[in-house]
Amino acid sequence: MTDHRTRDVNAIDDRVFPRGARRGSECGVLKIGGVRATELVEQFGSPLYVVDEDATRATAREIRDALRGEAQRVGTDATVYYASKAFLSVQTAQWMAEEGLAIDVASGGELMVALAAGVDPAKIGFHGNNKSESEIARAVEAGVGTIIIDSEIEVARIAAATAAAGKRQRVRLRVNSGVHASTHDYLATAHEDQKFGMPLTDAPALVREIVSHEGLDFVGLHCHIGSQIFATEGFRESARRLLGVYVELAEIAGRQIPELNLGGGFGIAYTPEQAAEAPNVADIARQLADIVAEASTEAGIAIPHLAFEPGRAVVGQSGVTLYTVGTTKRVDLTGTGEAAPVDRGYTERLYISVDGGMSDNARPALYGSDYHVRIANRQSEAAPALVRVVGKHCESGDIVVYRDELPADVQPGDTLAVAVTGAYCWSLSSNYNFVPRPAVVAVRGGEGRVIVRGQTEADLLAQSIVA
Ligand SMILES: *Cc1c(COP(=O)(O)O)cnc(C)c1O
Repeated sequence: MTDHRTRDVNAIDDRVFPRGARRGSECGVLKIGGVRATELVEQFGSPLYVVDEDATRATAREIRDALRGEAQRVGTDATVYYASKAFLSVQTAQWMAEEGLAIDVASGGELMVALAAGVDPAKIGFHGNNKSESEIARAVEAGVGTIIIDSEIEVARIAAATAAAGKRQRVRLRVNSGVHASTHDYLATAHEDQKFGMPLTDAPALVREIVSHEGLDFVGLHCHIGSQIFATEGFRESARRLLGVYVELAEIAGRQIPELNLGGGFGIAYTPEQAAEAPNVADIARQLADIVAEASTEAGIAIPHLAFEPGRAVVGQSGVTLYTVGTTKRVDLTGTGEAAPVDRGYTERLYISVDGGMSDNARPALYGSDYHVRIANRQSEAAPALVRVVGKHCESGDIVVYRDELPADVQPGDTLAVAVTGAYCWSLSSNYNFVPRPAVVAVRGGEGRVIVRGQTEADLLAQSIVA
């Protein structure tokens, strides 16, 4: 007997579902932000992205307080940018601003949303390896706090935009620290073979060029070493390498370099299995502050003002996607000819098809990401079954949840809740197969409200030119 038989396939694990999400006492319906999942689907449709507003705000505050508090402990301070590409809407940008986070954008479109939300332009960072001249001009005219320079060509482009606007612009230089972190380890090389940033060895020449322009105010180096990082070793190596050139850069600039931005990428748990290993924010913040303090001492400089750019860590866990089950089918694993005829002790896999898929969550297809699922409209005493939740698209890689366990009586019409879809789901969504994008509903205090309208088929047809 394997231990899966004793696993509670009805449990709502608060390490992956939004804080406070639980089953109601009467009929076991999942409630998020005090609202029943069944009501949400009835009122707003299926599939549906659900965002718990209080949980999002609380997480944003905790991350900001942890990173700022630890920076202050070592004698400096920190600015925490929310990396908005994880999920951006006018209202979420407002929540972040209200909770004291600055905002990173990476395109003219994201800049537009942040400005429409009334975010103070001085608290916006503008990223991108190929910002157009018009995007740069818009950013300079809007007065964005910092533009992150990603190539030598951009130095002159941004300088030209400042001259045209008669403004001065704070800029950071994005460098490749040569450190690339993945979930469990990191790789440090002299050069990184990827499109973002400039080699660290080019930084002195580039800073010389930057400071030669009246309109550019060089504030420091930036690096972003990867995403879904579970250990701080990569940040340590990266901080060391970047701060290692700060004395030289200070000589070139004729003054101290005031800031260091270490990017985002803090890992989160997508499944209960990952929850034990996922770093907690307080630990990461403490380690990062110590790392920077140590690396500054090594480099012989005062600890600079720090900046961080978490995305998924801020919004991932506060989002849930609700789907409706359409069809199910059983596949006998013993007959598939795979090396292991059983999976977790099961000889059969239950395929559950839902009314969305890779169009609303591209991450399993893009990255092989894991997700966790529960039945949301009821609980069940049925024995556990090994399940794979798949979408409705014409693609065998259209998988939402690769492997999990649910009560075996899951059936058409059931509502499923997939956890940790708050980051990079809506923002990476597509209209593959002409499937309309679902709405995003924010829940708070027992009520739901649409914060991003869903599309209809008519919206999609309207884009086609009819001859
Ligand atoms: C994507 C990105 C982030 C955020 O990454 P997360 O893994 O969501 O924390 C931060 N900074 C930059 C430059 C990025 O490209």
